[in-house]
Amino acid sequence: EHFNIVNTVSDVIDQLENKAERKDLLIRFDKPYKDPIFVYADAERIYRVVMNLVSNAIKYTDEGEIVVGFEITDQKVEVAVKDTGVGIPPEHLKRIFERFFRVDKSRSKEKGGTGLGLAIVKHILEAHDSKVSVLSTVNKGSIFSFKLPIGQSTAEMEEDARREMELMEEEEYD
Ligand code: ATP
Ligand code: MG
Repeated sequence: EHFNIVNTVSDVIDQLENKAERKDLLIRFDKPYKDPIFVYADAERIYRVVMNLVSNAIKYTDEGEIVVGFEITDQKVEVAVKDTGVGIPPEHLKRIFERFFRVDKSRSKEKGGTGLGLAIVKHILEAHDSKVSVLSTVNKGSIFSFKLPIGQSTAEMEEDARREMELMEEEEYD
C-alpha cells in the first residue's frame, strides 16, 4: 500500500530509543525534507527492514551515534542507517546476508540473536525489486541502505483524480 516512510522510520526510532539509551548511544534522525515521502510498498515488511537495520546498528556499536537519514534521487528514496560500530571485515561482507551467518561467533553469542535479521531484510527487499547496500570499515562503522520508488502524494493523487473528472465532463459535452 501507499504510506509515508518518514513515519515508518520515526516509529522504529521511538521503539528503539530506550535500547540505545541503555548503551549511551544517540539515534539521530536526519530529516532533510519537510514533506512526507510516500512509497508504494508493504508497510509492515518495510517497518521490519528498518527495525532490523537499526537494531543491528545499536547491537554492534559501543560508542558514538546511529544516524538514520533519507536521500531523494530520481523518483527514489534512499534510507540509510549509519553507525560508528565494530564494522565488518571485507571478506565477510558477502556472507552477512546468509541465514545464521555471524561474523564473530563468540561475540555474537553474548549479544544474542539468531543471525536471521539480514537474511530477512534481503528477502523482503528482493520482493520489492530492491536490495540492501553496505559500506563498512572495521572499527569505524557501517552504513546499510536501500532504495524504494517514490509514489504519488495524496495531494497529487487527488489532483490527478480531479483532472480526470474534468476530462470526463468535457467529453460529455462533446
Ligand atoms: P538477529 O538479527 O537474528 O538477532 P544477528 O544480528 O546476529 O541476529 P543479522 O542481523 O543477520 O544477525 O546480522 C548478521 C551478522 O552481520 C551479525 O551477526 C554481525 O556479525 C554482522 N552485522 C550486522 N549488522 C552489523 C552492523 N551494523 N555492524 C557490524 N556488524 C554487523
Ligand atoms: Mg540482527
